[in-house]
Amino acid sequence: MKLFYKITHAIILALTLIIALPLLGCGQRLQTVQKVDTAMGTIISQTLYVATGTAVGRKTSETQNISEEILSEIRELEENYLSWRLESSEIYLINQTAGSNQEIILSHFLNTALNRCKEVHGASEGAFDFTVGRLARLWNIDKWAMEAQGFIPPTEAQIEEVLQYVGGDKCGIEGDTIQLPQGMQLDLGAVGKGIALDEIRAFLEQHKEVKGGVISVGGSILTYGSKPDGGKWNVGIVNPMDTSRNIGILQLSGNWCVSTSGDYERYVEAEGIRYHHILNPVTGGPADSGVRSVTILTKSGLDSDALSTACFVLGVEKGMALAESFDAEALFILEDGEIVMTEGMKQYFYLSNAGK
Ligand code: AMP
Ligand code: MG
Repeated sequence: MKLFYKITHAIILALTLIIALPLLGCGQRLQTVQKVDTAMGTIISQTLYVATGTAVGRKTSETQNISEEILSEIRELEENYLSWRLESSEIYLINQTAGSNQEIILSHFLNTALNRCKEVHGASEGAFDFTVGRLARLWNIDKWAMEAQGFIPPTEAQIEEVLQYVGGDKCGIEGDTIQLPQGMQLDLGAVGKGIALDEIRAFLEQHKEVKGGVISVGGSILTYGSKPDGGKWNVGIVNPMDTSRNIGILQLSGNWCVSTSGDYERYVEAEGIRYHHILNPVTGGPADSGVRSVTILTKSGLDSDALSTACFVLGVEKGMALAESFDAEALFILEDGEIVMTEGMKQYFYLSNAGK
């Protein structure tokens, strides 16, 4: 039995690099800040172009603070709202009340996020389901990184038992309240990284000295503003057949969110069978739709993350239709290596030589 999990394979050093670029008028300069950390159980990397100097600028130490503040925003999001594991979070508290007939008043933030999740759940015919908590715990996905040895997949009977507690349409949201049914557990693992991108973009919009940047939260990437040289942002798309290489890049201008769901991101092997972390809420097992990865490009982080998971479960045909119905572009890499994408994606995607 072997486990491959991208974080454990990478030695991550908390690293901050600041490079000054002489530029801009009015005594201002642009500084490049590069930072790599871990949060939300994944790798966070930031490249920011920040104006410093007399007009709107900040000192170097303050420039560094911007990337620290972004990291804090991500951690607070997890601690206050999204984590099913941390006792401080709203999701944790809601999960504790399942079956108690208590009506919980949702924060505006979580209510908005959960309602959008419900929309994607409905539109994807349940392929994306934010109530997969019991199923994800049964598969032990979050422990694969630490406890791969001796992994035993759940039995059909166990899966059937927990599936009765999965179903976004039955989660009990009414207006600004939720009354979670007996046995149900919310799990925003498939959208947390995308929600983080939306928060980061809102933060950057409040900090006008940040002229541009690329922030990656696990498999979800935000491009923001413009590059100092006026060029486009390059976002690599991993080759699922050889994850050390990109199969191609997306060339983007301005603000975008790019999320990828791939079967290579988290998986475990037992007795020669590979099990990955994207579950089909109908069968209760890892989705098996002939797809190795799906990349979604759209303006909303939550949408990109939810849709990438949904499209992975649905497969090409239904997935393409779903993405288009949300005004999102999609790129599928199939099991045989074929690449299929929406018409709109073609203007952004460039196949790399290594991917040929
Ligand atoms: P992602 O990598 O964004 O596709 O999200 C996968 C994570 O979301 C898994 O680790 C599970 O915690 C959870 N998950 C798995 N399958 C689903 C699904 N069909 N709908 C919603 N969340 C899921
Ligand atoms: Mg996702």
